[in-house]
Amino acid sequence: MAVRRIERVLVTGAAGFIGSHLCERLLAEGCEVLGFDNLLTGSMENIEGLLGHPRFSFEHYDVTNYLYVPGDLDAILHFASPASPADFERLPIQILKVGSLGTHKALGLAKAKAARFLLASTSECYGDPEVNPQPESYWGHVNPIGIRGVYDEAKRFAEAMTMAYHRHHGVDVRIVRIFNTFGPRMQLDDGRAIPNFFRQALRGEHVTVFGDGSQTRSFCYVDDLVEGIWRLLGSDYVGPVNIGNPKEMSLLEMARKIIELCGSKSRIVHRELPPDDPKVRRPDIGLARRVLGGWEPVVPIEEGLARTRDYFAVALARREAKSP
Ligand code: UDP
Repeated sequence: MAVRRIERVLVTGAAGFIGSHLCERLLAEGCEVLGFDNLLTGSMENIEGLLGHPRFSFEHYDVTNYLYVPGDLDAILHFASPASPADFERLPIQILKVGSLGTHKALGLAKAKAARFLLASTSECYGDPEVNPQPESYWGHVNPIGIRGVYDEAKRFAEAMTMAYHRHHGVDVRIVRIFNTFGPRMQLDDGRAIPNFFRQALRGEHVTVFGDGSQTRSFCYVDDLVEGIWRLLGSDYVGPVNIGNPKEMSLLEMARKIIELCGSKSRIVHRELPPDDPKVRRPDIGLARRVLGGWEPVVPIEEGLARTRDYFAVALARREAKSP
């Protein structure tokens, strides 16, 4: 399946939740990894285990600016972007900039280095979908001027720019549409459902379910996602590929699972559903199975959640020790 040996790689958003796992995997595969991150939502703690690695280097850098990298690059993995719905209101301009200007800079660098370019895109391209599950051929149902529009449209623009560089400049591109992913190194306060539920359940606070909790998501453990991305990087498939776990569940069910897993006495309380919150979301992974050598998620949700609980329990204790 591998088309070209991937030896020296740039990862933007290297200190983020997914970016840091990806760097770890690339190092394990023998690559030299250059990580860039402006630490707006990423954290040095996510990469503290990588900093001494002889094939890893890190630069605190905002990739919406001109990118300069000396030497050859075989691949650029563009993962920089705030991605939590809570950030959509807090960091709207930064999100639009990294999805547009950041993608443009990263593609320009890929062109200059004749490097393969892999874009981290998102299930948000489908918006509040009118078909379920979502295949890559579905064009989506997005409110461009809504609160989520800053992220959805930035990523849709990034996909358009990626395909334009492919068609117009012959850049070798891959696009992964990432569905809800969870695991260690999510930020405790990033505002997403899984970190919120764990933080609240571990502290015995009310667990906040937005709306009646009947909206669904399909949660994928981060190791399964990274395996899919690694295979996509080595594949010859150009065009968006969904990577996610097709096991769909309601948010109410997820909140109950997490409370139980934490052995918590927390009660569920309901809060207002944010505008344009997708009612359903589930990947059709038929294409991924076909083009990525039979890839599919293998980590059971319960096991992934147990590992995530252990991570959050330590992260919470660490934080409370700093500022009780
Ligand atoms: N959500 C919730 N409680 C929270 C945070 C989020 O019920 O404390 C809901 C949110 O409204 C959405 C779902 O959980 O329906 C997943 O939200 P998340 O922020 O994790 O990501 P999204 O899939 O919306 O991008």
